Amino acid sequence: MTDFTYAVDAKGVAVITWDVPGKSMNVMSLEGFRLLSDLVDQGLADAAVKGIVITSGKKDFAGGMDLNVIAKMRDDAGAEPARGLFEGVMMMHGVLRKIERAGMDPRTLKGGKPIAAALPGTAVGIGLELPLATHRIFAADNPKSKIGLPEIMVGIFPGAGGTTRLVRKMGAMMAAPFLLEGKLSSPAQAKAAGIIDEVVADPLAAAKAWVLQAKEADLVKPWDAKGYKMPGGAPYSAQGFMTFVGANAMVHGKTMGVYPAAKALLSAVYEGALVPFDTALKIEARWFTQVMLNPSSAAMIRSLFINKEALEKGAVRPKGIPDQSVKKLGVLGAGMMGAGIAYVSALAGIEVVLIDAKQEAADRGKAHSADLLDKGIARKKVTAEKKAEVLGRILATTEYAALKGCDLIVEAVFEDVGVKADVTTKTDAVTDATCIFATNTSTLPITQLAKASARPNEFIGIHFFSPVDKMSLVEIIKGKGTGDRAVAKALDFVRQIRKTPIVVNDARFFFANRCIIPYINEGMRMLAEGVAPALIENAAKLVGMPLGPLQLVDETSIDLGVKIAKATKAAMGADYPDEAVDAVLFWMYDQGRLGRKSNSGFYAYDAAGKREGLWSGLTAQYPVVDVQPGLTEAQHRLLMAQVLEAVRALEDGVLMDIREGDVGAILGWGFAPWSGGPFSWLDIIGAPRAVAICDHLTAAYGPRFTTPHLLREMAEKGQTFYGRFGAVAKAA
Ligand code: NAD
Repeated sequence: MTDFTYAVDAKGVAVITWDVPGKSMNVMSLEGFRLLSDLVDQGLADAAVKGIVITSGKKDFAGGMDLNVIAKMRDDAGAEPARGLFEGVMMMHGVLRKIERAGMDPRTLKGGKPIAAALPGTAVGIGLELPLATHRIFAADNPKSKIGLPEIMVGIFPGAGGTTRLVRKMGAMMAAPFLLEGKLSSPAQAKAAGIIDEVVADPLAAAKAWVLQAKEADLVKPWDAKGYKMPGGAPYSAQGFMTFVGANAMVHGKTMGVYPAAKALLSAVYEGALVPFDTALKIEARWFTQVMLNPSSAAMIRSLFINKEALEKGAVRPKGIPDQSVKKLGVLGAGMMGAGIAYVSALAGIEVVLIDAKQEAADRGKAHSADLLDKGIARKKVTAEKKAEVLGRILATTEYAALKGCDLIVEAVFEDVGVKADVTTKTDAVTDATCIFATNTSTLPITQLAKASARPNEFIGIHFFSPVDKMSLVEIIKGKGTGDRAVAKALDFVRQIRKTPIVVNDARFFFANRCIIPYINEGMRMLAEGVAPALIENAAKLVGMPLGPLQLVDETSIDLGVKIAKATKAAMGADYPDEAVDAVLFWMYDQGRLGRKSNSGFYAYDAAGKREGLWSGLTAQYPVVDVQPGLTEAQHRLLMAQVLEAVRALEDGVLMDIREGDVGAILGWGFAPWSGGPFSWLDIIGAPRAVAICDHLTAAYGPRFTTPHLLREMAEKGQTFYGRFGAVAKAA
């Protein structure tokens, strides 16, 4: 059993079939590349072979490079990692270039054999870079297949010729969304864009037929032919100048310069466009190597690809518990969250009973699904039949009796212990003894809410983020009495609805909100101290936070902040540390500036709700002081506010696995994705530097920045988080 097999048909077409044993999706390994190279050699050398078709034995073509292998390639490269990586990448270029040249004389461009790619389904990453090196790409007519180069999403860029080939094929401007945003297309869209050549019912048959009639001129890529000009213009042309200057500004505006892969990609494109094709591949390889050696890329691959996938596949699922997939789900409360939970569940094929106190409210909750499906229809992503099918799975009612037969309940009624206790009791009365009860509370302790249940071991927190259909993280919270089957049930449910889970222990604000609240608070403290509002917001964005802290309060609403502050103060009493924050928050509340929803907050908005700029009244109330902190100082405050909370959550045992901390931080609240998450960031800067920063911030701003014991100990012992806790994570 090998990754590629080779067979020549009666008409002399050699078919190389990619079919990695034991995997549902083909992924490329270094051994796979070497084998592919040998088989191409075999086909080119055999006089009886007229041409070659590369296809897949699976329903899809390929899911890309095995990123574990890329990570290993870097780790294995020994004393000269740059050289090892560069040579590895150049080996891949060599194989793909051989396919592209297909034995032709490089001067006369004659004597080559046609090589086509037949894609039965999805072809992404190296799964598209390989076809791009062939002479013609045929894809099956399946609108669900994805074609594209999504590497940028995990902190790298297409480094096996995809960057250079796509730009030379389409021009830099047209290639930009596919390379810089990792945009994926259906086969029909990919054909319309000029990425692939044909969309057909039977790509293998079509590719074989093409190979048998292809002319020599059909095998010559435009960039290998005389007089090639890059579509859209090379950098030193009037048209190209506009493209490249514009692209630089656009990329910098979007990434704030914190993503090394985006910058390296642009450099590879720009520099590559000025030189011949083979030199451009070498330049691409050099930039790719540089990105691979950047700690940010390594951290992004680890969190956003390897560990995210591990968590989705059940890395922290209790062992020995049979499949707990949900068949019938009860959702209590059809408000903003309940309606969203019902939608994502019905979309995943789960039967849903959606309950609210009044029938109109339940119906309104169901209508939310209809609205989202209608939007999908408008964007041609959903069919009318699909809409009917999904809505057919949701029963909107006030009758608790309809919950009979549910194997999971998710409660999303008002955030009130009494109301939640009442619906818990009512549900217990009609459900079976095996039904798991989950609460979507964002602030109330799970252990306390479980008291209302007759079966606290089957009571758990499943905390969604808003908007439910967009946010991919789900925080699962174990109360003191929560049993393993409840955890397994929650994890299996999250897998069904294709989201990413983290499992944490019960403590105030669980994990995500615990870390994000100090970030928001730090922003408001800075404002109260007279730090220029623009500095606060820009410092956050320039370090990779998607929203500045003040904008984040506007989005989540100031009254929610007031509510949480009041509840926290009531619970903590004299220990409450955030009076300075409350002064700002309550003042805003008193002004009636409640954030985006009131069209007025820390920012000003126009009548249509468009955000205009920071509200001028802020500096009238909190005059900007003469001496402003430096950018780095402001960034350290904003980052450490979040990161230290993550470390404390680990120390307290709320967080049980640093992988969950990192993945949860990026997916849950957008923590600077370039860093790989709070623990990865600490590893990048190193514990000694982190301690120095904390000691300085503590002296300057107070005990909330006190260095956690764990961090100080790690600095003394020369440890990293992934060094110290990585093995535990792997064993889990
Ligand atoms: P919401 O006010 O939009 O919805 C609550 C719904 O529950 C309403 O439709 C209400 O009629 C219904 N309800 C109230 N009492 C009921 C009862 N006794 N029986 C049946 N239905 C009843 O609130 P929401 O924003 O959807 O929040 C719901 C829960 O989710 C809360 O616990 C909240 O803390 C939590 N949560 C909210 C968010 C968020 O961003 N809004 C995020 C995560 C978790």
